[in-house]
Amino acid sequence: MRNIEKLATPEVLSANHEEWTAAYVADKTSTTKKYRYRHPQIKTTLKEETGWKCVYCESKIGHNTPGDIEHKIPSSKAVHLHFAWENLTIACTECNRRKNDYYKVGEEFLDPYNEDVEHSIQHYGPVLGWSNGNERAEITVKTLELDTVVRFALISRKIEKIEELNNVIERYVKEESVTIKTLMKQKIKRMLDKTAEYSGMIKSIIKAKGLTIKLS
Ligand SMILES: [Zn+2]
Repeated sequence: MRNIEKLATPEVLSANHEEWTAAYVADKTSTTKKYRYRHPQIKTTLKEETGWKCVYCESKIGHNTPGDIEHKIPSSKAVHLHFAWENLTIACTECNRRKNDYYKVGEEFLDPYNEDVEHSIQHYGPVLGWSNGNERAEITVKTLELDTVVRFALISRKIEKIEELNNVIERYVKEESVTIKTLMKQKIKRMLDKTAEYSGMIKSIIKAKGLTIKLS
């Protein structure tokens, strides 16, 4: 997980938020009324703010990993937030399915938009853990099963990413050509970028290796 900044409310949502909410509250059986948040302008803005990644596991949303719009507080627990911009984000199908309609006051999932999640989550290679005593981080990780081999496909992709990183780092450290060394450094910086897949894990590995790569 990376810390994320919320983008401005998409125009179509500012313009229709109240009407859409009222229509949905009045008739919850209509899928047309329910899924208006799937408007392309809304979905694209959400993808832009997360770097086209699942907000939780950092998998890129695309053909292999489809994404769903995710309600931080599920509609079943707060119907008035069904179209609330601050309540919407994007998650991969695997994370979304596991979170389902979980929400408990005081035991909420970590919120990458409103708190420093990068210090609450720990990375043990491809597996996630949590800072000691941080129960909300533990609940988030365990509910999403980000600490178990059950997420086999995700863990495999993360291991491939670690191999790629190790190769680039090795080349960067040993390389004598200044030009190639610079190119390797740029590659590491790209892998560290907030929008890069699994960059939370990449950041932690680079830190563990004691490698100092300045982002600016
Ligand atoms: Zn995910």
